[in-house]
Amino acid sequence: MFNFKDPLWASTTFGVFLCTQCASIHRQLTVSISRVKSLKLDNLEQSHVAVMEENGNKVAKDKYEKFVPPYYRRPKHDDVQVLKEQWIRAKYERREFMQPASACYAQNVMEGTLMKRGKKDGKFYPRLFVLSQAEGTLKYYVNENKNPKTVINVEYLNATFCDKVMNPNGLQLTYLKDGYTRSIFVYTEKGKDIVDWYTAIRAARLARLQVAFPTKKIEELVPFLTRDFIMEGELHKTGPRVGDTYKKRWFILDDRKLMYMEHPLDPYPKGEIFLGEKYQGYSVKPGIPPALKEYKFGFTLITPERTWLIGAETEEIRENWINAINSVIEKQPQPQDYSESWKNDLRNSYSYKKSRNSDRNSGSSFSGTLRKGKNFFSFA
Ligand SMILES: [Zn+2]
Repeated sequence: MFNFKDPLWASTTFGVFLCTQCASIHRQLTVSISRVKSLKLDNLEQSHVAVMEENGNKVAKDKYEKFVPPYYRRPKHDDVQVLKEQWIRAKYERREFMQPASACYAQNVMEGTLMKRGKKDGKFYPRLFVLSQAEGTLKYYVNENKNPKTVINVEYLNATFCDKVMNPNGLQLTYLKDGYTRSIFVYTEKGKDIVDWYTAIRAARLARLQVAFPTKKIEELVPFLTRDFIMEGELHKTGPRVGDTYKKRWFILDDRKLMYMEHPLDPYPKGEIFLGEKYQGYSVKPGIPPALKEYKFGFTLITPERTWLIGAETEEIRENWINAINSVIEKQPQPQDYSESWKNDLRNSYSYKKSRNSDRNSGSSFSGTLRKGKNFFSFA
């Protein structure tokens, strides 16, 4: 599957070439499902390999991928292991795609138990989740005989795989609640189950988008079914006042939203920074203005509302964050950008000045130091 830059392996059962990663997953299926052989490339000419690869892999694709639903995420090599493994298992072991989708994710309603992290104590508890395509909702129950604890509109729901939950089958669900991004962390014991839930959420969102954009082709909607975070990791940031010290925070860059929280698994971020476009007054550069305290490898993020002083542990981490933020603020808005409506919702439903708890007043209280800052910030 995927790319075949240098195939070193083949499955003689299916007559396909495999890269090292795919081959190791095929081997896990055991020889009763897929027999994997290593290829001695020295005996084969590259051009022959190319021809064989085109035929063998294409034949297998036509057969085993005939009915892959459009919302099914086909993994790439840098995707999480569970997604890659389940793709190969779905394709060759369960043969899910040899007939029109009948798996659980293709049903109108999907329900099952997920291990969900408790907001209060951080422990994981089994919870009943119900996803309804017709209603466009995801609900979960603490007590199955009572009303759902939470009803989430799938229009505002995103799902992304995460290993932060210390389980390879983890999923972070995010949605907007009371103007803030709420995160729910879940995992399942079996890899198949978490990929099925992920796929079902994508299916439900596609159904929603098709109603909202009836003239659009499915291929045009598929990129908007789920978003992976652009980047996440630990950084240090100061408060808005001159004497404020740097505090460790977990940062997540999710499209045009930069969130920071105390702990990677916090249900709510402490603050959310909206990132507009460069010409609107958003910029990021290495270094902290002179006379202000720096934390190791500092960088300065400027938004129309506030200037953010952030520190990274290493030069490389700083560079990665600056590049990631730049990729967002330099991004040209697409003429047919379906996430535009989401962005507007975002803009309206949470003000970028809003932040929680100890940072509550940081947006406005910065005005005291802003004048002073403005001179400092003219540094090149
Ligand atoms: Zn591969």
